[in-house]
Amino acid sequence: MQPHVLVVEDEDALAELLQYNLKKEGFRVSMAADGEEAMMLVEERQPDVVLLDWMLPKVSGIEVCRRLRGRQETRNLPIIMLTARGEEADRIRGLDTGADDYIVKPFLMKELFARVRAVLRRIRPGLAEDRVVVGDISIDRVAHRVMRSDAEVHLGPTEFRLLDYLMQHPGRVFSREQLLDAVWGSDVYVEARTVDVHVGRLRKALNKAGEGDPIRTVRSAGYALNAD
Ligand code: CA
Repeated sequence: MQPHVLVVEDEDALAELLQYNLKKEGFRVSMAADGEEAMMLVEERQPDVVLLDWMLPKVSGIEVCRRLRGRQETRNLPIIMLTARGEEADRIRGLDTGADDYIVKPFLMKELFARVRAVLRRIRPGLAEDRVVVGDISIDRVAHRVMRSDAEVHLGPTEFRLLDYLMQHPGRVFSREQLLDAVWGSDVYVEARTVDVHVGRLRKALNKAGEGDPIRTVRSAGYALNAD
């Protein structure tokens, strides 16, 4: 699963450069040009990490950071602040407000990638690791292999991505739209009902041996993978 980065940057040239390079490096990328749009996209697209410029129109980067930390759903969302050279006091304030790291402009893409990976590894090990285990289910991203208890589970590519995503956020409820966005991508048009079809297939494959159903349907809200 490609980690999803939300870039919040109002300088067009830098925003484009970041988008281009992050995509090339294998990240999914969403873009916001001000703080308000950033808040909206965090809710809508549920990025894995936010690159947040300090000086932004409407709502400042620091205020976005403060708001994200104040909300239950985004309390642990990794945030890397982008600051201009010499704004030492800002950096310290940034970390005070709850940013996980900061990087000083201008920076090398290589350095940025390393910081993003480091933050993801620290905060969301499930994203960076090759093998993730939730309850009696394990997924090996390198071998593309899923096991439940000791039996191998055979999944199609979409079901694999769906399970992979759910396993990164055990216990959390996702709407059909959020799953569509994360698993199919926001550029693809797929009906919400398609999600139900693939969740159905995933369930069937996982529960073949008659174990309990690890996927919870939350009526009118969506789906979640049980954490235990
Ligand atoms: Ca700026």
